[in-house]
Amino acid sequence: LPRERPSYDRGMAIIGTETEYGILAPDEPAADPEVLSAAVVDSYPGPGTPSLAETHNRVLGNGARLYVDHGHPEYSTPETTNAADATAHDLAGDAIVLRAAAEASRRLGVRLKLFKNNTDGKGSSYGFHENYLLSRALEWESIVDALPTFLVTRVVFTGAGRVGLGTHGDSAEYQLSQRADFFERVSGLDTTANRGLVNTRDEPHARPSRWRRLHVIAGDANRSPYATWLKLATASLSLAALEAGFTPPGRLADPVAAFRTVSRDLSVRAALPLVGGGTASAIDLQRRHRDACAAYLATAEFAEGDEVVREWSEVLDDLDRDPASTADRLDWTAKLGLLEAVRERQGLAWDAPRVAQLDLAWADLDASASPFSALERAGRLVRWIEPAAVAEAVAGPPTDTRAFARGHLVANHPDAVVAATWDSVHVRDSRGRIHNLRMSEPLGHARGSIDVSATIDRLCADWDAASAGRAAASDYTARS
Ligand code: ATP
Ligand code: MG
Ligand code: MG
Repeated sequence: LPRERPSYDRGMAIIGTETEYGILAPDEPAADPEVLSAAVVDSYPGPGTPSLAETHNRVLGNGARLYVDHGHPEYSTPETTNAADATAHDLAGDAIVLRAAAEASRRLGVRLKLFKNNTDGKGSSYGFHENYLLSRALEWESIVDALPTFLVTRVVFTGAGRVGLGTHGDSAEYQLSQRADFFERVSGLDTTANRGLVNTRDEPHARPSRWRRLHVIAGDANRSPYATWLKLATASLSLAALEAGFTPPGRLADPVAAFRTVSRDLSVRAALPLVGGGTASAIDLQRRHRDACAAYLATAEFAEGDEVVREWSEVLDDLDRDPASTADRLDWTAKLGLLEAVRERQGLAWDAPRVAQLDLAWADLDASASPFSALERAGRLVRWIEPAAVAEAVAGPPTDTRAFARGHLVANHPDAVVAATWDSVHVRDSRGRIHNLRMSEPLGHARGSIDVSATIDRLCADWDAASAGRAAASDYTARS
């Protein structure tokens, strides 16, 4: 493909999410999750590269990746340029995995259940990852300095809610976050053990001299589209502000301990010790980040910028006044409201099996089984992303990133695509010659910048013409 170096200014974001879904066959509890997950990945009937034996890794016609990771089906969205698109693609993942599971269930002859949560309550936690493009020019130290405070305190609006404290759910009380109990250090490389709040993995899936990809592993997977949007929107805006030098004051003295404190504090008022003395609440610290973003927005354009600051402010004010007033938008408060109502009506303690079952059902992708979906149907949750946007994200790639070229190739030239990764697609032309189409610029190869079909057709035609010429020549040799 032609080389592209699109201009990049600070107002541009690249966002992608990864969701590892919990999976089980309720009628065959001993079934190997690895086998179930492989069947889900291999069964998705929509356009996608075939799952090569043993790998169970596919790239889909909407530019996403569907694969098996640590015994979970995982869906990684294509690269998007704003939080609304990223949320639509995150929800498209739910729809795609659900459809794939229905097909796998038919093939295997077992019922399958899929959960968008982050812990099985038996000591394991599985991830929801956020990915943000950063300029390599940004000092990594400035990220490591500011990020732990931001990630820990945002739990007041990003928490998915969890019944159970401790990695094994040792005590059955309620906490805001699914992930807080599974982090042990401020920074680190591992994603499955000894996790750090700041993940130091440096795999940009793009030109490394120009880009970094921030891989955030400390967040919860949300059911509420509003919560997903706010989580992605505030993080990408805050990173842009940091990149431009707008750094809010105040650092948590012990971010790992504060993660647990914030997660267990249903009043959202806990005083968190700061470096250099003094304390601040999670809401205070989030307001400082919000202010830094507002100051940044006075100097630059940013996708959805003013809307993000407005919604962020309103959520923080509402939480400050009465956390329950956010139950129309946030997972943890909506779930808590439901569980408290059930507990009161039925006289149940936090450790009642019915309470644990409702917590799990919240995450159930089956809309007929999930109280989250029931609240959504009843109009009790804000409708933030239109169903049409989700359907569009299931059907095709974003048009403004390289995911467009990837998805277009996979969907329209299925016989030509041999393999695809985030930054390249291997294409076989009509004579069997392999071309590596490199796409190391996330903002390149979007719709309009290149006609991918025409490029493929040309590659094939060039080869056909060349080989036709050779064939003609050898015909001539044979005849003479
Ligand atoms: P693991 O599954 O082990 O965590 P990984 O983080 O490399 O590996 P993938 O599941 O392959 O993960 O997903 C990569 C994610 O990063 C996708 O959501 C994709 O859209 C996004 N992404 C790809 N390139 C970039 C980039 N340069 N900047 C930001 N996000 C990116
Ligand atoms: Mg992944
Ligand atoms: Mg990842």
